[in-house]
Amino acid sequence: MKESIPLTWRRIPERYRLLGVHCDTCNKSYFPKRTICPQCRRKGKLNEVKFAGKGKIYSFTEVSAPPEGFEDQIPYVLAIIELVEGPKLTAQIVDAQKEDVKIGSKVEMVFRVIQKDDPEGLIHYGFKFKLA
Ligand SMILES: [Zn+2]
Repeated sequence: MKESIPLTWRRIPERYRLLGVHCDTCNKSYFPKRTICPQCRRKGKLNEVKFAGKGKIYSFTEVSAPPEGFEDQIPYVLAIIELVEGPKLTAQIVDAQKEDVKIGSKVEMVFRVIQKDDPEGLIHYGFKFKLA
């Protein structure tokens, strides 16, 4: 799981734009995007939605043994965030000490550098969250 985080950020375009789907049949939103509603299966009517980037902390952990490429950022807080639209996602919390982060804290999305020392010299951007 730890190794998969930067790969996920790099390879799934939805993670850069916070795109998901809303199902008109069960009235729930999902992230990342699905092609079939997990609840309604083929009866679901899915529409693409862009989430507002606001939510609250559902749970969190402090990372002190990071995946490769994140060594200069430790320690940092990795949280499961429940978006106001309902879906949950995992993201780094920036500009906050662990003591400031609480379950239920309101957060909002910010656009930040994810990783600078890519072997190909690329700089990867994506979303992180900060306390609102
Ligand atoms: Zn559905």
